Amino acid sequence: MKINTHYTGLSPRYLFHDIDLRVKEYLTHHPDEHLLRMGVGDVTRPLPRVIVDTMQAAAEELAHADTFRGYCPENGYEWLQQTIIDHYYQPRGINFQTDEIFIGEGAGSDLGNLSELFDSDNTVAIPDPTYPAYVDANRMAGREIVLMPCLKENNFVPELPKEKVDIIYLCFPNNPTGAVLTHDQLRLWVNYARKNHSIIIFDAAYEAYISSPDIPHSIYEIEGAKEVSIEVHSFSKSAGFTSVRCGYTVVPYETGLQGMWMRRQCTKYNGTSYISQRAAQATYTPEGRTAVEANVAYYMETAQMIREGLQQVGLQVFGGVNAPYIWCATPHGMGSWEFFDLLLNRCKTICTPGVGFGHNGEGYVRFSAFSRREDVQIALKRIRTEISL
Ligand code: PLP
Repeated sequence: MKINTHYTGLSPRYLFHDIDLRVKEYLTHHPDEHLLRMGVGDVTRPLPRVIVDTMQAAAEELAHADTFRGYCPENGYEWLQQTIIDHYYQPRGINFQTDEIFIGEGAGSDLGNLSELFDSDNTVAIPDPTYPAYVDANRMAGREIVLMPCLKENNFVPELPKEKVDIIYLCFPNNPTGAVLTHDQLRLWVNYARKNHSIIIFDAAYEAYISSPDIPHSIYEIEGAKEVSIEVHSFSKSAGFTSVRCGYTVVPYETGLQGMWMRRQCTKYNGTSYISQRAAQATYTPEGRTAVEANVAYYMETAQMIREGLQQVGLQVFGGVNAPYIWCATPHGMGSWEFFDLLLNRCKTICTPGVGFGHNGEGYVRFSAFSRREDVQIALKRIRTEISL
């Protein structure tokens, strides 16, 4: 056999693995230390009661012959597809048929798997820094990648590529920078894609965190976007489903790719758990909505505390207003890992080094508003006393 040699071009380990190694090393020398975790993008609030009750009821159905269910439809139950259309897209004046909405186990796998629809001879434009999965999935497929710098100077919004690119990944609100796009900025991308016959893969995993009215939640709010965009959603960060697993991907007929994605999913995916799909549906009930919004509001209060706490010591911060991530410039020109080590050793606080998200993340670290409030409060106090600028 011959292995896929493109794997040799990947960085050997995943970012969070490297962080774990440093933390383990620290703990072997300081075994009794309680570390404050402000880095990881996993949620910490418990699931709302209404969602757990719904999952319990769905599990109970499986215990009875008359309500038992076997394999779910590969692309999801129609009642969930229709609920998403009715509650998410129609209020925004956007219409879809149910078979344009593909229910899956979360955004991560779809974002990687979508790359299978395209020939390896495509140029892919990916923001830098970025959620690492876009780069890795396309490196695995051997595609040429054009990295688009997201810098303080461009407010962490990439400029349109000068050359023609075929596939464009956009993630707004952004992980890790917390940057967002206005309607006008997103329109430029849609127009670019229409002009160049490109496709945009729009990662909307954090759209629930938008509170400013001029920021689009969905790329389909932009005229003409259906022809050139696939949109990926997740219940992970909005409703706390990182372990439950559920998300959805919208592949409009107008892209010409709906049939291909349907074919791919029917062959390689055997459907999302019935219990998870019922749980996702429950997030759209009045009770579910209220509970999810309360969790989002809680995390955004934490984001504000982090922003203000870091600003008080004179650190320069970005994001954290329409996104749960705070992107913090390291002081005195320190490298990302250098500042990571300083925070670990002096403040017993774990952040995420920005360079782990790409070359242009060097000189930044990411703080996550998903961190436990108690940890954030103690960490900010320590940062105030230990870090002098
Ligand atoms: N997209 C972005 C930008 C993310 O940050 C994450 C997870 O951190 C995902 C997608 C994956 O989400 P899911 O849990 O739905 O796989």
